Amino acid sequence: MATVSGDYITRDEQWGAHNYHPLPVVISEAEGAWVTDVDGNRYLDFLSGYSALNFGHRHPDLIRAAHEQLDRLTLTSRAFHNDQFGLFCEELATLTGTEMVLTMNTGAEAVESAIKVARKWAYEVKGVEFDSAEIIVAAGNFHGRTTTIVSFSDDPVAHDNYGPFTPGFVTVPYGDADAVRAAIGPNTAAVLMEPIQGEAGVIVPPEGFWASVREACDENNVLMIADEIQSGLARTGELFALDHEGVRADLYTLGKALGGGIVPVSAVVGRRDVLGVLKPGQHGSTFGGYPVACAVGRAVVELLDKGDFQERSAELGAHLHQRLNDLTGLGIAAVRGRGLWAGVDIDPTNKTGREVSMALRDQGVLCKETHERTLRIAPPLVITREEIDHAIDALAAALKA
Ligand SMILES: *Cc1c(COP(=O)(O)O)cnc(C)c1O
Repeated sequence: MATVSGDYITRDEQWGAHNYHPLPVVISEAEGAWVTDVDGNRYLDFLSGYSALNFGHRHPDLIRAAHEQLDRLTLTSRAFHNDQFGLFCEELATLTGTEMVLTMNTGAEAVESAIKVARKWAYEVKGVEFDSAEIIVAAGNFHGRTTTIVSFSDDPVAHDNYGPFTPGFVTVPYGDADAVRAAIGPNTAAVLMEPIQGEAGVIVPPEGFWASVREACDENNVLMIADEIQSGLARTGELFALDHEGVRADLYTLGKALGGGIVPVSAVVGRRDVLGVLKPGQHGSTFGGYPVACAVGRAVVELLDKGDFQERSAELGAHLHQRLNDLTGLGIAAVRGRGLWAGVDIDPTNKTGREVSMALRDQGVLCKETHERTLRIAPPLVITREEIDHAIDALAAALKA
């Protein structure tokens, strides 16, 4: 590639660890739903940093909050109080209808924290035999990349050669409430699942699944933990994907969009009697709940509290899904998802996901495959109806080309 981009890509490959396989586009500026590369080409963002950019790139309210905080105070450590932490926790708990907030940085840390809390709760409150707690997880799950979390991943790429693995996880098929019920035993601390599986290809479980899991958890004194790191915060047209089911979890893990695409912010939110098992010194993170994270997080909560993004996602999502469904049989085998979030299976006789992503890039639309033949579509929720049409026209052309 005789462009400026080529130089950057060569350098990335020489000096950066090769744990990703990015599309060959080097972004240097962005605003709203659009990004610009170092060669001056503009692209419509149809991925949103895997839902970390739900409010678009550089939303003015979020940028303002970050700037104001940078000019006042960045880090105190939790050795001292700061004037943003308590407000962030209060506002996030109020928004989510929960009682307590544990702040961390990355999604994986939130999931790790939820696992630790569930185990501690099992021993100290439920009375599970020491070192025997079990957590039920789903096949096809994605919860992050730490050694404990990849211990219960069944994706060989994420899992293989990272052992010895952390025990204490029981895997059942996703969306099978009877299997969840059958897997619950005296040592079960929790059920941990994504309300909609993102990385697996935006898999929506059958209707009634979550209500049945809730019932099984209630009957057996088992915690229900919803990993809403990708599905939550307006992505599906509600604050939580679980809200579509009218079901409440005991703990929610949040991340990605919680940091507004500016700083890594994650949290576990939920019941006071569960998060309350943590006492001083028993868990923590140097940056977890630091002032910049809290200031940006508060601005995110304020945007979500208005409900506009949830509404946009529901309305425009219906349009997106209709346009995608119109392409079934024309290069698309299946479409799944909810709101402005879709898993699109490409017809096996057509291109691979990577090839379609490349063809889309050439047409000025950025998205990315997950697994071999599935595209994950998750535009920023600031996208317009016309921009969606533009991207779907490009997709139709990419599938035909
Ligand atoms: C992205 C993601 C995570 C991990 O978040 P990181 O910030 O990458 O550690 C966990 N769970 C789900 C459902 C995710 O989509």
